[in-house]
Amino acid sequence: MKASSISPINIALIKYWGKRDQDLILPYNNSISMTVDGLHVHTTVDFDNKYTEDIFILNGREVERGSGEYKKYIGRFLNIVREKYNVDLKVKIVSNGNFPASAGLASSASGFSALSTAINSALNLNLDKKELSVLTRQGSGSSTRSIYGGFVEWKKGGMADGSDSYAEQIVNDWHDFRMVICVTTKKEKKVKSRVGMAQSVSTSPMYDGWLLSIENDIEITIKGIREKNFSIVGKIAEENCLKMHAVMMTTKPSIIYWNDVTVKIIQSIIDWRENGL
Ligand code: ADP
Repeated sequence: MKASSISPINIALIKYWGKRDQDLILPYNNSISMTVDGLHVHTTVDFDNKYTEDIFILNGREVERGSGEYKKYIGRFLNIVREKYNVDLKVKIVSNGNFPASAGLASSASGFSALSTAINSALNLNLDKKELSVLTRQGSGSSTRSIYGGFVEWKKGGMADGSDSYAEQIVNDWHDFRMVICVTTKKEKKVKSRVGMAQSVSTSPMYDGWLLSIENDIEITIKGIREKNFSIVGKIAEENCLKMHAVMMTTKPSIIYWNDVTVKIIQSIIDWRENGL
């Protein structure tokens, strides 16, 4: 029972930062992303009784089963899949991305979306996209959006079991929209998103303000995407990103994902815009 899948990353225009349910991975707010061609993860899963333990090889390096990273991500997700679909077999997972992992480029999103899609095939689960989006959300929240191409909204949902928290495509026909991704460092970030967002929810004095502003951002962005109005979408995405980083920076202890190159890029964009670009 072996299958492979390739999944692209997605970059949020309206960000996800904070869970109302840690176990089911349910967010406090809706989010919107663009699925990005070019950066992707290729994952092969092989469920076979020749394996006596699960094996996870990420970008050529085996992730130790006893490590915190394994337990928090892959191990936890495999437990969910096993329990839900009565799977006893051990699995070997080999995953490779064409970009650095844990560096803010959505390796967890594309990684879990590729993994869930491959598992769906290997185990013949026959999940449709919505069901797949619900399953993969329980591995990594943002992966729920990578199940679809184009512009995608992840609905936070309201039900306690998480069955109404899934992603839906908004449109897939805005072909001249481009995202430029600048790799400012290849170093892994010091604080993983999962840990960072939990700290922000409980310690940032700005978290409530962030949440209060989201509904309006979502509404305007969806309208802008449907009208293919770059100025509207760009403006709200920029504001939303700065707000999220303000929440991160005011978390205790402070989370600063920017470096000197990030700030130079932001300043260059402001200059280019002032000069009419
Ligand atoms: P990023 O900014 O790259 O999304 P996150 O902090 O959100 O970083 O998530 C990083 C975690 O995602 C890694 O520690 C790893 O456990 C998991 N991950 C990264 N790449 C993959 C992959 N290809 N398959 C499965 N899980 C992955």
